[in-house]
Amino acid sequence: MTNTKMLEGKVAVVTGAGRGIGRGFAKLMAAHGAKVVVNDLGGSVSGEGEDRGPAYDVVNEIRNDGGEAVENADSVTDWDAAHGIIQQAVDTFGKIDIVVNNAGILRDRIFHKMTEEDWDSVISVHLKGSFNMSRAAADHFRAQQSGAFVHMTSTSGLIGNFGQANYSAAKLGIAGLSKSIALDMARFNVRSNCITPFAWSRMIGSIPQDTPEEQARVAKIKEMTPDKIAPMAVFLVSDAAANVNGQIFGVRNNELFLMGQSRPLRSVHRSEGWTPETIAEHAAPAMQSSFYPLERSGDVFTWDPV
Ligand code: NAD
Repeated sequence: MTNTKMLEGKVAVVTGAGRGIGRGFAKLMAAHGAKVVVNDLGGSVSGEGEDRGPAYDVVNEIRNDGGEAVENADSVTDWDAAHGIIQQAVDTFGKIDIVVNNAGILRDRIFHKMTEEDWDSVISVHLKGSFNMSRAAADHFRAQQSGAFVHMTSTSGLIGNFGQANYSAAKLGIAGLSKSIALDMARFNVRSNCITPFAWSRMIGSIPQDTPEEQARVAKIKEMTPDKIAPMAVFLVSDAAANVNGQIFGVRNNELFLMGQSRPLRSVHRSEGWTPETIAEHAAPAMQSSFYPLERSGDVFTWDPV
C-alpha cells in the first residue's frame, strides 16, 4: 500500500468542517497536503446560533499536525458570503481546487406538522448552500480548467425516511445538482460527485435509547465514526479520481457502495395510445410487480455495519 500525499499543492474549502464528518474531511485533506479553508458557522443541529469555536479548533489541530488551514465562520446560505469563502481561499492560498459541500442542519417533523420555516431553513443550508458554494467556485474552476466538487447527499433522500420531507428533498436535490454540474463542467475538466455517509455524529445523536434493543442499535451506529468517511472524499478530489464524475458513493464504516441512479424499470406500450381506463386495466397491473415498496433507508441497509 502506498502512503503518498494525494492532495499536495491543492487548496480546499470544506463547509461545516468544525464538527463531525466535515472535521474529518478537513483534517485528512490537510494531512494529504491540501491547504484548507475550514468553514463552520458553529450553530446548533437545528441551525440556531453561531460560534467560531469549532472551526477555530479544527484549524489549530491541523496547524499542530504541521498542516496549513484558515478559519471561516460565515454561512453558506448567503450568496455573497459563499463567494467570500471561496475568495478567502484564493486570497490566502492563491487559488481554489476543491470544494466540499458538507454543512448541514436538521429540522425533522412529520409532514403534516412541517412549517414553512422548517422547510426553508433546511433547503437553504443544504441545497441553496451547495449551489452558492459551487457557483462561487465555478468561475475559478472554468478559468483554470480544473476543479473537484464533493457534495453530501443522504439515503433519506435517495431511499426515504420518516419525518424528513425537507431534508430528503434537499438531499435528492443535491444529487441532481451534482449530476448537472458534472454534465455542464466536464468540458472544463471539472468533476462533481456525491457521498452518502453513515456516521455517528451529533446530527443523529437524538435516536432514542430507551430499550435494550435501541441501546444495542445505537452502540452499533457509534462504531461508524465520522473519520471513516474522509478517505473517500480525499480520493474523489484527488487526481487519482480523474475519470470519476457524476457518481454517488455510500460509505458506512468499512463498507463502500456505488449507489444506483434512476433508470426506466419497465415499459408498456399500446399502439393506439392510453386512456385513464386502459392505464388502470393494462399498464398499472403490468408495472405493479416492479413497484418499489415504501421502504426507508433501514429497510434497505438491513445488515450491521462491517
Ligand atoms: P454535524 O452537525 O456534526 O456537522 C454539520 C456542521 O455544519 C456543523 O458543525 C454546523 O455548525 C455546520 N453548519 C450548519 N449550518 C451551516 C451554515 N449555514 N454554514 C456553515 N456551516 C454550517 O453533522 P454531520 O453528521 O457531520 O453531517 C455532515 C453532512 O453529512 C451533512 O450535510 C449531513 O446532512 C450529511 N449526512 C450525515 C449523515 C450521518 O450519518 N451523520 C448521514 C447522511 C448525510
